Amino acid sequence: MPSSATPINALGGSVPGMPLDVCRLPLVGGHPALDLVNTLERGAPIDGDPPHDFLSDTSALLRWTPRVGLINDAEADRVGQAWRDDPAAAHAGLAAVRDIREQLHLVMLAAIHPADGGATDDPGSPTEGDPIAAGAALVGLHERWSGAAARATLVLDRGDPPQIRLTYGTVPALLIPDRAAEAALDVLRTADLTRVRRCPVAEGGCGWLFLDQSRNGSRRWCRMADCGTTAKARRLTERRRAARTAPSARAGSPDSGL
Ligand SMILES: [Zn+2]
Repeated sequence: MPSSATPINALGGSVPGMPLDVCRLPLVGGHPALDLVNTLERGAPIDGDPPHDFLSDTSALLRWTPRVGLINDAEADRVGQAWRDDPAAAHAGLAAVRDIREQLHLVMLAAIHPADGGATDDPGSPTEGDPIAAGAALVGLHERWSGAAARATLVLDRGDPPQIRLTYGTVPALLIPDRAAEAALDVLRTADLTRVRRCPVAEGGCGWLFLDQSRNGSRRWCRMADCGTTAKARRLTERRRAARTAPSARAGSPDSGL
């Protein structure tokens, strides 16, 4: 996916140079919360440009959230109405979701093993390997979740067997950030964190996070069709270039006749 090796417009954007619409973004995370992390371009910066945010505005968020199943279509209608009535609440909702996204990204990088793409002490990435930043992010996530939990309700489902369900999102204007907070806590508490990977940036991957659900735990790329193939092609090009330049370099060397 998007990286210095795989420009975002290489992912099927219909207009060259235009990033993909958020509703065409590949869902590779294996959990909605990881797909949320992947709505921001990760990986190596491209020519110093800021990373592209696919959740560019409240409309993009409102279209993306039902797509990953955090809300249903009827709920999306209610959120849309609430946000049209109160644009400030819409912007606050988007800001809250972006906060949750970045906090979860920091915590995940701190939690997963460096061999799987977790944070290192790389001085070029001052926040990634900082346990204080990850701790602060956890506090922030807890605060978001606490607010969401305070607004949640217990619902009796009279099915067979009957169940009591905890339903987040009783206030339409806050429904999306509340569900995002719920999803973030869910992935942190229920996912096997030894199976969370980061598409390998150092090898040309995009830095997106995903749950490796392969039987033998050997998945390395977010999508082989994108990052894996791109990285392989780049390595092949580099090997060919090295093979072409090596003989001429030797021929031009002052030691070449020895
Ligand atoms: Zn990737």
